[in-house]
Amino acid sequence: MNKMEIIFEARAENEAFARMVISAYLVRLNPTVSELSEVRTAVSEAVTNAVVHAYGEAGGAVRMRTHTDGRRVEIEISDEGRGIEDVAQAMQPFFTTQPDSERTGIGFALMQSFMDDVRVDSVVGGGTRVTMRKTLGGGDA
Ligand code: ATP
Ligand code: MG
Repeated sequence: MNKMEIIFEARAENEAFARMVISAYLVRLNPTVSELSEVRTAVSEAVTNAVVHAYGEAGGAVRMRTHTDGRRVEIEISDEGRGIEDVAQAMQPFFTTQPDSERTGIGFALMQSFMDDVRVDSVVGGGTRVTMRKTLGGGDA
């Protein structure tokens, strides 16, 4: 078991930062390039959602917690923002509450396709927590 946690401001520039952190954290597990790229994309989508959807002008904090157990990786991205009214609907491919901006509504679909398991817990007015799991294939633990 090896735990790690960071908390950062919900700003667009921190999405790249979160991607770098998860990459640095996972390299010791010797992931394949595809695995690393999949995890980076999933993290990037979850963090982008917190940045774009969770908070208004005032902003807020995004937390990324992760731990590994052997080759099993669990990553949790959470915010204390507005929350999601209907999680099942939000997770459907191409569903977006921002159709007028550049959003296509595939963030959750990408997380689901790149990770083994994605769980979303959300409370309206309380925040959102995305928990993703993936078991890495070859290489030494
Ligand atoms: P894309 O990810 O393709 O840019 P999107 O962000 O709208 O578009 P998803 O990532 O699939 O699509 O999210 C679907 C919807 O779920 C969002 O439009 C938003 O309404 C809601 N949502 C997702 N994450 C959060 C969050 N952290 N806080 C509040 N609402 C969220
Ligand atoms: Mg999104």
